[in-house]
Amino acid sequence: MKLTPYWTDDSPRPADLPVAADLPNQIDVAIVGGGYTGLSAARTLAKSGVSAVVLERETIGWGASSRNAGITGCSLKQKSKTIFKWYGEELGRIFWEASLDALELIKELVYEEGIDCDWAQNGDLCVYYKSSHYEEDPVWTDWYAEKLGHSFDIIAPDAMRSEIGSDAYYGGFVDEHGAGLHPSKLVFGLAEVAADNGAQLCENAGVTGIEKLAQGYLVHTERGSIHAREVVVATNGYTDGVVRGLRPRVIPVGSYSIVTEPLSEDLQRELSPKGRMFWDSKWFLNYFRLTPDGRMLWGGRNNLSTGLDLVDSAEILRKEMVHAFPQLSDVPITHSWTGQLGLTFDLMPHIGQIDGIYYALGFGGHGLHTAIYLGREVAQLITGEKASSPFAEIPHRTYFFYRKNAWFMPLAVMFYRIRDWLS
Ligand SMILES: Cc1cc2nc3c(=O)[nH]c(=O)nc-3n(C[C@H](O)[C@H](O)[C@H](O)COP(=O)(O)OP(=O)(O)OC[C@H]3O[C@@H](n4cnc5c(N)ncnc54)[C@H](O)[C@@H]3O)c2cc1C
Repeated sequence: MKLTPYWTDDSPRPADLPVAADLPNQIDVAIVGGGYTGLSAARTLAKSGVSAVVLERETIGWGASSRNAGITGCSLKQKSKTIFKWYGEELGRIFWEASLDALELIKELVYEEGIDCDWAQNGDLCVYYKSSHYEEDPVWTDWYAEKLGHSFDIIAPDAMRSEIGSDAYYGGFVDEHGAGLHPSKLVFGLAEVAADNGAQLCENAGVTGIEKLAQGYLVHTERGSIHAREVVVATNGYTDGVVRGLRPRVIPVGSYSIVTEPLSEDLQRELSPKGRMFWDSKWFLNYFRLTPDGRMLWGGRNNLSTGLDLVDSAEILRKEMVHAFPQLSDVPITHSWTGQLGLTFDLMPHIGQIDGIYYALGFGGHGLHTAIYLGREVAQLITGEKASSPFAEIPHRTYFFYRKNAWFMPLAVMFYRIRDWLS
């Protein structure tokens, strides 16, 4: 079993990715972080004729953007009902619309920019792990229909076999917006599009400090310094202390995945007859899917820590997978890996500014569409194409008890495990 991400094994960073040999001296916008957010911002800026450089500490796409499960759809991590309660119906609807636009943006990358990333929009199925979840179904599905005009197909427990080759669940619901793609093909494709439009990509260029000048900023990196008119920080779950006050606004959380070796076509059809993406209704959710080459990918948060041993995590995930799909009990696991996502206290993604430095982060497990969307949004704020963004208007809270060590995580884990148990 390899302890590296399956996706970059299957589709590695292209050897001819157009990375810049030298750092520029001067630039309009310096972007810290070379994942979906940073690259999407670079694409939008470059298309508007604004010079942009992406500064990535490792190699382009190294972070969560090449490690995720490639499952996307509409909605944000925070529930729409809660967003309505906090911010009112008008803003609540604006956030919902933004999540739909975010999905459209991925389609634009696929169909208009020609990024070949195995995009397949076959819907997603949320599976209920308790019968009470199925019974409560109408309460919230009616809410979505009434407030947002959005409908889900409810799947009764006895109809589940038409959707999934498992008897472990008590019904579920399908959202036809759900889609799957190959995350590393997407991130490298996005990098190529950004570079084709004139953005510069710099690897092994970790940013070590940002100095505010009378005009603009001096951005210090491991490879030298750059004068920039604006700076965008796009480091999500890998955010460090480069911008004082940013780290306390995002909590890094580990997410872990395994894949099996490729399955026979008959078994693939049995496990996923309609090619859906899957996730379960727990707070400590599992997400799973068939990969484009027919493996079962199974992922989960384990205990939210970022440092779990990858052999141990593979064993935990394999047990959960076999519980759902006993058909996979003898199928070897070929890869086990992890990556970090960034959670905010309100589970909302945010755009903000600290000392005039822009940032866009906090995507939780919904970063595929929202990271790309907020990358574009922050770039549009800089170019003036947009005067405001809903993601920049809501408060981005932190609390006095969190600076950079999330010591409270074990308590949060206990709380949510009890919630999963009671719900
Ligand atoms: C295992 C896993 C599964 C997931 N599954 C899904 C899924 O199925 N669907 C979904 O929607 N979302 C999923 N997510 C979340 C999604 O992948 C992320 O939200 C998204 O990729 C975030 O993109 P980003 O560009 O903001 O951050 P990242 O892709 O993490 O990029 C941040 C980059 O910043 C760089 N960096 C950090 N500090 C510095 C510095 N000082 N100088 C220079 N560079 C720096 C890092 O090296 C990193 O490459 C998953 C995440 C993980 C980890």
